[in-house]
Amino acid sequence: ALPTIAWIGLGIMGSPMSENLIKAGYDVTGFTLEQDKLDRLTAAGGTAAGSVAEAVRDADVIITMVPASPQVEAIAYGPDGILENARTGALLIDMSSITPQTSIDLAKAAREKGVRVLDAPVSGGEAGAVEAVLSIMVGGEQADFDAAEPIFEALGKTIVLCGPHGSGQTVKAANQLIVAVNIQACAEAVVFLEKSGVNLKAALDVLNGGLAGSTVLTRKKDNFLSRDFKPGFRIDLHHKDMGIVTDAARAVGAALPVGAVVAQLVASLRAQGEGGLDHSALLRAVERLSGD
Ligand code: NAD
Repeated sequence: ALPTIAWIGLGIMGSPMSENLIKAGYDVTGFTLEQDKLDRLTAAGGTAAGSVAEAVRDADVIITMVPASPQVEAIAYGPDGILENARTGALLIDMSSITPQTSIDLAKAAREKGVRVLDAPVSGGEAGAVEAVLSIMVGGEQADFDAAEPIFEALGKTIVLCGPHGSGQTVKAANQLIVAVNIQACAEAVVFLEKSGVNLKAALDVLNGGLAGSTVLTRKKDNFLSRDFKPGFRIDLHHKDMGIVTDAARAVGAALPVGAVVAQLVASLRAQGEGGLDHSALLRAVERLSGD
């Protein structure tokens, strides 16, 4: 029989990802803070739990997909947390994007409870989650990776064990650096093109066919054209990730001169009250700097 799954965190990513596991035949019991998301899980064929403890008690595999390190720590530790309530031998796969150190500490604490851990953050956005084509960057032990691989294959397309605990998070931090800088470059090009009076849609189409083309440009083109910044990936979360990559790079002596500037622009959107918008709203920061 397939392993039973507990899924904690049914947000923009967690809802479609957990539904892909249900479609693949897994028995999924979920818990999250919003009732409407629990209702969505039940409608998709899953089971709604009333707490983290209840969700994880009988699970073979526990998957977490919550915003950041504090939420992972809140659901993992303490009397009502995963480690206290999971059964011995369970596999905990944290797919949230958090600091590498939090993943390393979690793996160590879990080992003392007989729980195995993988860090397995993802890239590909909401569309990648819905279509089950995520890139999954994994840290942990080979045997646990092998055990989790069928689950990963129901969620994503590019699945790589990057190294020991925390390595998946380090790679995800690099991913977020590249994505933010790429969006910023596209946003600067959009403002430049519009001020120059060129047809923006035509310009973005031809740019996307050349060396300037990217997944960012493909996925965010409509946001740029329509100025619709419904998330997607929230600025608040990208701000968190720019903090993670900035700290991690400083710790190893890697310079991020352009990344540091883009981190400031992401922070400026939050300061304007725009933290809930999609990260393609970096366009607004460029427009402001351009006097629009
Ligand atoms: P989200 O805010 O839409 O969802 C987070 C979910 O976590 C919510 O449903 C919330 O109820 C739940 N949650 C928070 N605290 C909880 C708790 N204590 N107990 C139970 N549930 C709790 O966020 P998201 O966009 O789905 O992102 C989740 C993670 O995935 C983040 O780390 C993010 O950086 C990462 N990520 C997001 C995207 C994207 O495009 N949205 C892409 C790749 C990675």
